[in-house]
Amino acid sequence: MVITKFVYRHSWKTNLINIKGIIRDSIAIMKLTREQSEEIRNQQSQSNKTKRVTAPELEKILYEAMPALDHGFVRVVDYMGDDTSIVQSARVSYGKGTKQVSTDAGLIKYLMRHWHSTPFEMCEIKYHIKLPIFIARQWIRHRTANVNEYSARYSILDKEFYLPTSENLAAQSTSNRQGRGDVLEGEQAKEVLELLKNDAERTYGNYETMLNERYDGSTIDENKKGLARELARMNLTLNTYTQWYWKTDLLNLMNFLRLRADHHAQYEIRVYADIMLDTLKKWVPITYEAFMNYRVGGTEVSAKGKIILKKLIKGENILMENSGLSKREWNELMEAFDLKDKLI
Ligand SMILES: Cc1cc2nc3c(=O)[nH]c(=O)nc-3n(C[C@H](O)[C@H](O)[C@H](O)COP(=O)(O)OP(=O)(O)OC[C@H]3O[C@@H](n4cnc5c(N)ncnc54)[C@H](O)[C@@H]3O)c2cc1C
Repeated sequence: MVITKFVYRHSWKTNLINIKGIIRDSIAIMKLTREQSEEIRNQQSQSNKTKRVTAPELEKILYEAMPALDHGFVRVVDYMGDDTSIVQSARVSYGKGTKQVSTDAGLIKYLMRHWHSTPFEMCEIKYHIKLPIFIARQWIRHRTANVNEYSARYSILDKEFYLPTSENLAAQSTSNRQGRGDVLEGEQAKEVLELLKNDAERTYGNYETMLNERYDGSTIDENKKGLARELARMNLTLNTYTQWYWKTDLLNLMNFLRLRADHHAQYEIRVYADIMLDTLKKWVPITYEAFMNYRVGGTEVSAKGKIILKKLIKGENILMENSGLSKREWNELMEAFDLKDKLI
């Protein structure tokens, strides 16, 4: 397979300007195959007339490959509906016709606040994602999407591995079993990076040997047969990149983004979720605002938590010990309401 270097010249800076924490990764030179670059050029040059609603801001970046991590990308390749589609379907349930934009925003906010979710299922979006296999394993847990993945039974995987930047090479967190702590430094950081790189390259070299074929499609030894692709792939490291088309509806996209753009999610999947948040904003700006307000920025408070907050507002002194909450839940509640002096 011929690989051409494709230096990203589009408006990625402006596209990603609001995406926190991922700019450094985006600067990496993204590789697209010649076929992919050509496909993007062809798709972007086409212009189809339609009677359907379109989202002007999303149209501007349709098909564009927005860089993620060192070799990955996110592309929006298709979508159906916009904010008005949600309103239209919601009004069916109320038996009223479409109204003004201001009332549309009010209705969308109402739907979001009250978990009236089915109108959000009326919009759909399809992405083309390139991502490391270990991130794909987390992603695939979101079952309410349609997925079609690059077949490593049929084709040879690209010789591309994710290697974290130095500031993302962190030690195991001591307080959270599922998280990262301080960044590794000096010799140890160098050693870890070398290990990651060497292991990936060594197993990829063995992959080529087993296939009897190099990643560029050339044969290694004319006198040998190559092992089946479906078997040769099994030794590859999990930082090898894969690709898929991922189609979902707006409701399930928001569920995905709420979980994966959150600081509890692993950094690498957050990079993708942050880019997709930006596409959400371009696609359905009113829904995006409601989503950021009620879901991302909002907080769920338990019944016990509400009692504690009410007492605190009244000036009563509450201690964790007699709150009925566990230490962890107490701290989460205090953090959510910026009551840091009450953290245990
Ligand atoms: C920070 C974080 C840490 C995680 N850690 C782990 C971990 O350690 N181990 C692990 O295994 N997973 C882990 N997960 C994955 C997590 O448990 C979910 O599987 C994942 O987030 C997908 O969420 P979902 O089921 O809501 O999404 P989807 O599969 O898209 O489902 C959306 C919604 O549809 C409904 N639904 C879909 N399918 C079914 C079904 N079969 N039955 C009933 N309802 C259904 C549910 O209401 C669900 O919320 C983690 C996720 C996050 C964000």
